[in-house]
Amino acid sequence: MTNVSDLKQRTIATIDARRDNLIHFSTTLHANPESAFQEFKSSALLCDALEGAGFQVTRGIGGLETAFRAEAHGDHAGATIALLAEYDALPELGHACGHNIIGTAALGAAIAVKSVLDQLPGRVVVIGTPAEEGGGGKVVLVERGLFNDVDAAMLVHPSGRTMVARGSLASTRLFLEFSGKASHAAAAPEEGINALDAVILTFNNVNALRLHLKPDARVHGIITHGGTAANIIPDYAAAQFSVRAAKNGYAQQVLRRVVQCAEAGAAATGATLKYSTRPSYAELIPNLTLAQAFAANWEAIGVRVHEARLDERMGSTDMGNVSHIVPAIHPYIHIVKEGVGGHTIEFREASISPRGHQGLISAAKGMAMTTIDLLGNPELMARVKNEFVETVQKQQVERLGRFE
Ligand SMILES: [Zn+2]
Repeated sequence: MTNVSDLKQRTIATIDARRDNLIHFSTTLHANPESAFQEFKSSALLCDALEGAGFQVTRGIGGLETAFRAEAHGDHAGATIALLAEYDALPELGHACGHNIIGTAALGAAIAVKSVLDQLPGRVVVIGTPAEEGGGGKVVLVERGLFNDVDAAMLVHPSGRTMVARGSLASTRLFLEFSGKASHAAAAPEEGINALDAVILTFNNVNALRLHLKPDARVHGIITHGGTAANIIPDYAAAQFSVRAAKNGYAQQVLRRVVQCAEAGAAATGATLKYSTRPSYAELIPNLTLAQAFAANWEAIGVRVHEARLDERMGSTDMGNVSHIVPAIHPYIHIVKEGVGGHTIEFREASISPRGHQGLISAAKGMAMTTIDLLGNPELMARVKNEFVETVQKQQVERLGRFE
């Protein structure tokens, strides 16, 4: 019989021994920010390190060049636990969401688990998931079956608060393009069709819609093209919206209403509308059994865990899509004072601060310890799966029945 707590102590020692090395990886990723689907150096860095640690690495999976899968086997057949790595940065801002910590924590946890894997059944896989900030690498990997053999998945995100079971909003990015007809704005305005007016009407229509949306809905947009000169009626204008809600089903309903707002703008001006969406991020449904096990491990190494508040402010993540097909958690580790949000300069600096480094080490330990729990304790794995079947899968049936 495997002594789970003994193995956990050994993985903690492995991570402590590699502390400087892991911090080096994290700061190297941070110093070389690469945005959505361009993470060539970052993914190569992680792949090389995993290969060096004895993992079998496949570079470029699911048709995504900067996605990867690294795999190591235990003593005999068992569960497959996926540690997800993110390593994309934000355009211009760099690693202002701290994904250097996410990628490196997965690396550290995987190497630590590998060091005791001869004592355990099952497999540990690291799945490198690009473009969380735009493009949704995980959405593509989920759709292309890359999670089909996974029994549970986790990643740890840096934050202002340490939490294990916070969800996220469902989200879809909507792109609008209006085409009109250019004309001289003073000499012949009657000959023009004003594409910018169609955009402005769309925003006004959306603002009229807001009162009638449920409180969890979020609709926010920018104008990305509004014409070229004040004396020309704009024949082309474009906008982007992000449409979010607590549940994907309602987010899709709101999305339809926003498209209607744009159609009305086009109808009023005579412009023609073309729209497209990016793959939707589903809401994250944390597996609470898994979250509890994770929290117990963090508490055991002195990391204080906070409950997610009922009115928790949330963004969106493509981890949501993963959580709809396998039991998953997306815990947050404290690296910056509460209230400092991601996508800021302050958060970027925190991602390589002493607190950021400590968060990275705690994240790696939490994932390594929880992976050992799942592999070494089939009864826990069964409870995790049972919760998934009882909640997520049944909800999905209901969701599909109502909205498709
Ligand atoms: Zn992020």
